[in-house]
Amino acid sequence: MYTDTAHVDPPSILQSAFSGEAPPLLAHKALRRDEFWREIPGYSNVSEADFRSHLFQQKHAVTNVRQLRDTLGQLVEDSFFEDLSAGMHHAPMALRISPYLLSLIDWSNPLGDPIRTQFIPLRSQQQPDHPMLRFDSLNEQGDSPVPGLTHRYRDKALFLPIDSCPVYCRFCTRSYAVGTDTDLVGEKLKLHASLARWDRAFEYIESRPELEDIVVSGGDTFNLKADHLQLIGERLLKMPNIRRLRFATKGLCVMPQKILSDNAWFDALTRVVELSRKLHKDVVVHTHFNHPNEITGITHDAMNRMTERGIVVRCQSVLQRTVNTEPSIMQLHVRRLSYINIHPYYVYFHDMVPGVEDLRTTLQTGLDLEKHVRGATAGFNTPAFVVDTMGGGGKRDAHSHELYNRKTGIAVFTSPSVRPGKKFLYFDPLASLDEEHQWRWSQPLERRAMMDEALDAVNA
Ligand SMILES: *Cc1c(COP(=O)(O)O)cnc(C)c1O
Ligand code: SF4
Repeated sequence: MYTDTAHVDPPSILQSAFSGEAPPLLAHKALRRDEFWREIPGYSNVSEADFRSHLFQQKHAVTNVRQLRDTLGQLVEDSFFEDLSAGMHHAPMALRISPYLLSLIDWSNPLGDPIRTQFIPLRSQQQPDHPMLRFDSLNEQGDSPVPGLTHRYRDKALFLPIDSCPVYCRFCTRSYAVGTDTDLVGEKLKLHASLARWDRAFEYIESRPELEDIVVSGGDTFNLKADHLQLIGERLLKMPNIRRLRFATKGLCVMPQKILSDNAWFDALTRVVELSRKLHKDVVVHTHFNHPNEITGITHDAMNRMTERGIVVRCQSVLQRTVNTEPSIMQLHVRRLSYINIHPYYVYFHDMVPGVEDLRTTLQTGLDLEKHVRGATAGFNTPAFVVDTMGGGGKRDAHSHELYNRKTGIAVFTSPSVRPGKKFLYFDPLASLDEEHQWRWSQPLERRAMMDEALDAVNA
């Protein structure tokens, strides 16, 4: 049976995020301030000062099964590690998780925990891929005039200066390039920090007067050296055509300690933001939280530092089955983000990338969820639910589908501003379909027929 809340018990998830007795009305304000990491055998002697240091977090990131076992000791059964080892062989992303995130997992119920689900693959939960899934499903490389720069929309472009992150998310849409190589993906596209490659991107951006807005992503801006961050920011801001920059980082979610203790990096970011004000331009940070349990007192302290320096932060979340499809969870999420001054911007439907079929949801799930989220808090803190279309049609409001066949699980989108005249398909996960339609997807001719039928219906 397929449900979007399988094996998750919402009340217990909420409870684990609270410091105790917060009434539901104010639950979003109840941020953990206990020494939660001390419950992990490997961190039982770690002081608060050490745990709040990004150097500790970086140095002790867990990157293989042996380290995880050493850190967790007897907290979980051996079968968990066997499940993980088997899962790694079918995972698009390598293992990398910070002590902070690891400590926020409820290890009394790791199978149902939303943070475990996002970072630690288990063979017992992986599902066969939908036949239409692709690496680089957004076709970022197809729209790249130079490696690591995607120019799809007229006035904005995506710049990838680096291919590493402080942690690796199982579901990364850029699994074709980000992180160390894996069995499933094989050798990944390498986008290491390289001044020569960056120069080619800068020259291209300068040569296109219609470009006004650059998303600096990755990989993760957290992994840029302070002087590189400043160099990129200044170089782009000084171009007369560029009006807006966004630095994308998951760091605030997975290692907020960096904002508290890496002063060189934080000062470099601040200098770029200040320069943008002098030039009457706009520089903001875009981050990525998916579940209210990811927001703690440490996040709040980090965000308070951002707020003191006047740095605007927005959040892009990814809709994931068993993580954040429950209305009460997503409402708490947007309220909690808003409370610490992070503006919820987007909720993305899961991209159609291989290896994480267990995390995808139906389009209907997100359409229903959106109704519960709109009205939960201020309109400017209400995220748009978007599908980033396969093949490079760009982001579309999920409600704007031209057609949605809930039997075949096919939705059709158009994108007149990005690819006029073209149609783009989104596919519900196989496990959400009835037996007949699962069978039809297993047959190449039936597959073609279902897609042609959807495309023809939109022509009519
Ligand atoms: C998402 C994205 C952007 C930014 O789009 P917004 O909707 O403005 O956030 C720019 N370029 C590419 C290629 C993207 O995928
Ligand atoms: S932080 Fe972003 S780029 Fe890095 S692995 Fe996670 S989703 Fe991918």
